[in-house]
Parts: sequence; structure tokens; C-alpha cells
Amino acid sequence: MRKKIVAGNWKMNKSRDEACDFFNLIQKSFLPEEVQLMVFPSALYLTEAVGIVNNKVIIGAQNCHFETKGAFTGEISSSMIASVGANAVIVGHSERRNLFNETNTMLAKKASDVVQSGLTLIFCCGEMLHERENQQHFKVVEEQLKNGLFHLSLEQFAKVIIAYEPVWAIGTGKTASASDAQDMHCFIRSLLSQIHPSVAHQTSILYGGSCTPANAKELFKQPDIDGGLIGGASLNVSDFLAIANSF
Ligand code: PEP
Repeated sequence: MRKKIVAGNWKMNKSRDEACDFFNLIQKSFLPEEVQLMVFPSALYLTEAVGIVNNKVIIGAQNCHFETKGAFTGEISSSMIASVGANAVIVGHSERRNLFNETNTMLAKKASDVVQSGLTLIFCCGEMLHERENQQHFKVVEEQLKNGLFHLSLEQFAKVIIAYEPVWAIGTGKTASASDAQDMHCFIRSLLSQIHPSVAHQTSILYGGSCTPANAKELFKQPDIDGGLIGGASLNVSDFLAIANSF
């Protein structure tokens, strides 16, 4: 059985106090047993987050460098993330690709590094609007996965979650239709089965892009959508929990 997952990517939001309030509330809340919650706060708050909710929610970082240590001012490594008790890292978010020029080659190194540190990897992929309009979306996602992720070994894939996030849907209020999202998730699973047939049916594939309590049910009903990577709606505990209760 694949894991159902709802993961919150907070991006550059919340003060330390606001983050702690969120985690204290989550810690006291009733969470659906069959759904794994994950939250990716600012790296500044990883230690606090782990201390408050680590038994209930997986805490992770939004990014890391691919080297373990060294002269990389401003960066953090996956082994540092692991050392504070966090358990996951997001790699390849479209904001990292597009605003910080992260290439598939760089993302491939990050993906290797994250799983080698024993952390769970959420690897993001997704096309831009013009690529979908030009019917290039399957090709783009295939290239992102082949060049950034599919070098990992069968054993390493046990730590992998894929997030399909069409860039035109992120933070825009435009969600992919459930059937378009399902078509892409099914395509991704078929690519996985060509690389590692045994993991294709075990790997959770999340949808991301303006997922809210209003549309999560329809999306999560699709056979190849195993949950969501949530941006804006993950900042509010009740919206986040409503999404987690949408299976
Ligand atoms: C995201 O940034 O991963 C995301 C899905 O954002 P939003 O839910 O706000 O569209």
C-alpha cells in the first residue's frame, strides 16, 4: 500500500513564534491515522518543530546544498538537517529551478545527497504554462525526472516521494483538473515502472498547485494521486488539516 501524504511547504513565511504556535496546535490536534503529515518550515525553525511534533509529523527542509560541508556561504547540508532531527528535504521546487537557476544536473546531485544522508526526498517536477500550451508537458516532466532523479538506485527509491507541480498552478489559484493531474501522475508511474518496476506502485506521487480544502477531495480520489504538496493552504492549521482529511 502506498502512503497517503499531505506535505506543507511554508516557503519564506512565518516568524518563529507563529511557527511554534502552528506546531503546538498540530501537536494537540487529532490527525487522520492513515495520512502521513509533513511540514517544511524555514530551516531556522527545524529544531523547534522537531521538538514539538516529531512524533506526529515529519519535519523537513525546503532545500539543501549537495556538498556535506565546506566554503559555501549561506548554505546548509543534508547532514546538518539530519543532525537536528529533521527527516526530509524538498528538492527541485519550481521556485528553486526558476528563481535560483537550479539545473537538473545540480538537482541530481542534491537528490543523491539527500538519500545518502538517510533523509526522505520530495522531488518536484512540473511544466510551465507555455510548455503545457505547446503540448510539451509530458516531455518536460520526463526530462526532469530522467535527468534529476532516475539515477537513484532501487534501494534509494524507498526514500523517494515525487511531487507533480504544474508551475502555472503554483500560488495562482488555478488548479490542474483532477483528470489532467491524474494523466500526468499515471504517466510518471509508467516512467517509474520502466526504471524500477518494483517501486512504481510503492512510490507516493503528490499533486501540488493551489490545492485547497475545496478541491483536495476530487484530486485525492484519483487512483495515482497519493496526496498533496501544499503551499499557501498549509500556513493555516485548519486548512492544512482539512486537506489531510480529504481522502
Ligand atoms: C508549492 O509551492 O509547492 C505549492 C503547491 O504552492 P500553492 O499550494 O500555494 O500553489
